Amino acid sequence: MRGLYIDGSWRTNDTERRPVTDPGTGEVIDRAVEASVGDVRAAIAAARSAFDDGGWSYTDPARRAEVLRGLAAGLVRDRDEVARLETLDTGKTVAESHADIEDSVAVLRYYAEIGAGEAPGAIALPRPSVTSIVTREPVGVCALICPWNYPLLQLTWKLAPALVAGNTIVAKPSELTPLTTSKLFELLDELDLPAGVANLVLGAGQPVGHELVASPDVDLVSFTGGLVTGKMVMREAAVNVKRVALELGGKNPNIVFADADIDAAVDNALTAAFVHAGQVCSAGARLMVEAPLHDRFVDALVDRAAKIRLGNGFDDATQMGPVISAAHRDKVDGHVQRGVAEGATLALGGRPPDDDHLQGGFFYLPTVLVDCDDDLNVVREEIFGPVVTVERFATEDEVVRRANATIYGLAGAVWTADADRARAVARALRLGTVWINDYHPYLPHAEWGGFKQSGSGRELGRLGLEEYCETKHVYRNESPAPTGWFDG
Ligand code: NDP
Repeated sequence: MRGLYIDGSWRTNDTERRPVTDPGTGEVIDRAVEASVGDVRAAIAAARSAFDDGGWSYTDPARRAEVLRGLAAGLVRDRDEVARLETLDTGKTVAESHADIEDSVAVLRYYAEIGAGEAPGAIALPRPSVTSIVTREPVGVCALICPWNYPLLQLTWKLAPALVAGNTIVAKPSELTPLTTSKLFELLDELDLPAGVANLVLGAGQPVGHELVASPDVDLVSFTGGLVTGKMVMREAAVNVKRVALELGGKNPNIVFADADIDAAVDNALTAAFVHAGQVCSAGARLMVEAPLHDRFVDALVDRAAKIRLGNGFDDATQMGPVISAAHRDKVDGHVQRGVAEGATLALGGRPPDDDHLQGGFFYLPTVLVDCDDDLNVVREEIFGPVVTVERFATEDEVVRRANATIYGLAGAVWTADADRARAVARALRLGTVWINDYHPYLPHAEWGGFKQSGSGRELGRLGLEEYCETKHVYRNESPAPTGWFDG
């Protein structure tokens, strides 16, 4: 059973336990304690007093960095168990879970490195009797609210900069995926962390997430999730002018020009759209192919997508796992059926598989919709499932204009052999990340986040650390004297 971690110890309560379901089989595999509002308040109070007593925020940053290194070491030591839990949580393949662990370890080590080395900036002033120093200080108590698609990775992207900057935290995973977050707190519990610095609450957005966002004792909310919830978080946080960082959804263009390396572009179009069954905020779910290449490209894509092996994430042969829940599968299917009704042509998939051994889990076939245009809801809305829409374009200007004509601005790619064109298109796309002749890599030092309604603020990189810092200017006059301003 998964419990709450508050003020340095594991806790339970007498609320009804929430079942944890394996999306690969549909079976209940664990139970989680559901935090009450009182539990959330206790976690916030523990984080508040751990911050206010200064025991953590005044600690040498090098010591805080040691905690991140210790956590990274714990993940490496227990990687097989962590990978198993991540696959049980999310249904992704064990290989994908291992890749998430490697990325999480890299992020923890990156912030251990740069967090320990941040020096205050002193500015030379013309008056020698004055020193002016700008320092970075922690923001305070941070609520870290995470989605179900990358429970481990998303939490480490937030927790590493928050802790190394000297903040205290209360983390909340999605109610659907508590397993690896609990494991991460078991690893933290092994380390020399003062009680109250890191707290974990489990449970649903209402009331658990809401309480974190509404509490006047929380100074910052870092939220990754859907657009509708993100807007609600922003509104609620505004009541006490809380700092907010939002990583929201995307409908990401994957643009292929006719001169691209077709084998590489088709292969990457598959990973862009179908890795983790398309439940990736940056999924290349909107494929745009230049007219002369379009038909050949679609044939190759459909041919390869039809061969993707669906299965349980624990089966070595599996290439694509299930979606997170039966409800989510219905939602994905609803998008597809609506797209077809609006005029898209179903070239592949569009339903759950028939195979007997896949009936328990929440599987959906890799789906390709062609003859799509900008007006279709299926092109405009985030589906968050194994569905790719394909559009045809004629010119560079046209594809840039169409790719930008969306409320989202998270990520995307351009495929071309023409380096000048690649640079021009990358510059013109209103996206937080543009890949050229590649899709999906994330690097710890490279800021991640969205333009427009894909979010506000950045994770990873130096700006990912800045999100968790306040900036303070200290001006010191060593020869105080009357100013004379109001004389006479
Ligand atoms: P949701 O927005 O439904 O939930 C995200 C988190 O917020 C969950 O922990 C959820 O809790 C919680 N929550 C729900 N309601 C509230 C509330 N009123 N106040 C505070 N917290 C609340 O997103 P999903 O979990 O469905 O995740 C999928 C979404 O995440 C997609 O849109 C995807 O694009 C986005 N995403 C964005 C990423 C990025 O980097 N930009 C990365 C990964 C995902 P609970 O689930 O327990 O109810």
